[in-house]
Amino acid sequence: MNEFSTGTRCVQGGYRPGNGEPRQIPIVQSTTFKYDTSEDMGKLFDLEASGYFYTRLQNPTNDHVAAKIAELEGGTAAMLTSSGQAANFFALFNICENGSHIVASSSIYGGTFNLISVTMAKMGIDVTFVSPDASSEELSAAFKDNTRAVFGETIANPALTVLDIEKFAQTAHEHGVPLIVDNTFPTPVNCRPIEWGADIVTHSTTKYMDGHGAAVGGAIVDSGRFDWMAHNNKYPGLTTPDESYHGIIYAEKFGKEGAFITKCTSQLMRDFGCIQSPQNAFLLNLGLESLHVRMPKHVENGQAVAEFLQKQDKVLKVNYPGLKDDPYHTLSEKYLPNGGCGVVSFELKGGRGAAESFMKKLKLIAIETHVADARSCCLNPATSTHRQLSDEQLAAAGIPAGLIRISCGLEDKDDLIRDIENALRS
Ligand SMILES: *Cc1c(COP(=O)(O)O)cnc(C)c1O
Repeated sequence: MNEFSTGTRCVQGGYRPGNGEPRQIPIVQSTTFKYDTSEDMGKLFDLEASGYFYTRLQNPTNDHVAAKIAELEGGTAAMLTSSGQAANFFALFNICENGSHIVASSSIYGGTFNLISVTMAKMGIDVTFVSPDASSEELSAAFKDNTRAVFGETIANPALTVLDIEKFAQTAHEHGVPLIVDNTFPTPVNCRPIEWGADIVTHSTTKYMDGHGAAVGGAIVDSGRFDWMAHNNKYPGLTTPDESYHGIIYAEKFGKEGAFITKCTSQLMRDFGCIQSPQNAFLLNLGLESLHVRMPKHVENGQAVAEFLQKQDKVLKVNYPGLKDDPYHTLSEKYLPNGGCGVVSFELKGGRGAAESFMKKLKLIAIETHVADARSCCLNPATSTHRQLSDEQLAAAGIPAGLIRISCGLEDKDDLIRDIENALRS
């Protein structure tokens, strides 16, 4: 589908039915697959043939939807996971092990911050957090001999900082390490990190990709560009024999284009089983079919709400990279020329208390632990998604205690602004 635009790929990517086959991606609601001979099935277990044998590892519905996301991001291979958390964990753990080190932007989603700094630390994987605004020199200083991955978010949830993807990619590559970018907020409609040098892209498909608050899910896309063999001392999991598959070497057998996702599926999905249900993959695809139509509307609403908030006396500060005086506006113009997303965050004068009473008075915009679906919602991160962080960690992540995050949905922007205006007034 390389010759087609992003919008066309949203609608028709990933699945090309043959003569007389279903027009819509079928839900293959089956845990297992039938074979005529044990030899046939054995070839699948040895990764000698491609095919399906058990839905914990792979399912045709998921693979069609993953192929669409790969086409949208401009990658060579992709897989779906049960959640965005699983996607980020798998993307990192596929190339890190006990004794490895990760360099990560400090401005990332609270769940990912916790995953890396607490849970992966228990597995013996160390992290150095760096400011998303770090210079190349400051970034370089964070690397160690055992650094195996660099991680950041294109637009951070909820701080709304914009990652300088080119700078992070360049520094990562100078140290012989891939850059993993979580591209959940802009989606490939508004930014394709691989075009700026990212090696692996992850998603919480729970957000805009599904877009209707219907199904939790995640995705991992490989650019197919990182040369694992050139750094074989760092990535033995990809460049030395896997005895659980009769000694195959992923980087040799599947090349740069396929090694990462094949290893991730055949080892991590086999052992952890964080598969997305085919039913959820089907729902995700319905969302993807209109992603290119919905994203511009989310951006339009986000921009309008941000501009309105900026003019209010009771508002201390508004974060939205689409605002001309936002510190990330220049990066936004470079990486997000059509806008980023519909998420806006702002601080009310009066901190946590003012935030609480404002949110209580909203009628249309609901209080939810969610962002990025059709219905507008809001949240105070310090008392919900980020409550595990200390005040210092909150500050480092760019999240003051009184910050309110509003996710602008697909409603009429005048109705959203009126709802906010009424809540501010009372
Ligand atoms: C929500 C989110 C995640 C986690 O995804 P889940 O689908 O909730 O597991 C990861 N990264 C970002 C940027 C997110 O917004």
